[in-house]
Amino acid sequence: MARIEPAETLFLAPLSRPAPGSAGRTGTWRVVKPVVDLDKCTGCMLCWLYCPENTILKTGEGKVRIDYEYCKGCGVCANVCPFHAIEMVVEG
Ligand code: SF4
Ligand code: SF4
Repeated sequence: MARIEPAETLFLAPLSRPAPGSAGRTGTWRVVKPVVDLDKCTGCMLCWLYCPENTILKTGEGKVRIDYEYCKGCGVCANVCPFHAIEMVVEG
């Protein structure tokens, strides 16, 4: 078996991401949802990097949009956004 050097481990770790919607379809039970203010969003993709469900998608305009069918409303994206461009809104 090939020996994995620590540096390689660090490099490979971020490449392990969940499939979109690993928690299943969430639209029926989610209680809050993230809403992106596109005027504030700079397209830095930090939210994409941290989303545990891989449900943040890059748009053609260099911004992001949420896949509400699978987003579970955890709020991680809103917490990590350095520009406060994501607000968690109660489902109505
Ligand atoms: S972290 Fe904030 S500014 Fe960066 S892409 Fe996501 S919503 Fe946009
Ligand atoms: S609330 Fe944000 S971080 Fe959590 S699953 Fe939805 S898009 Fe991803």
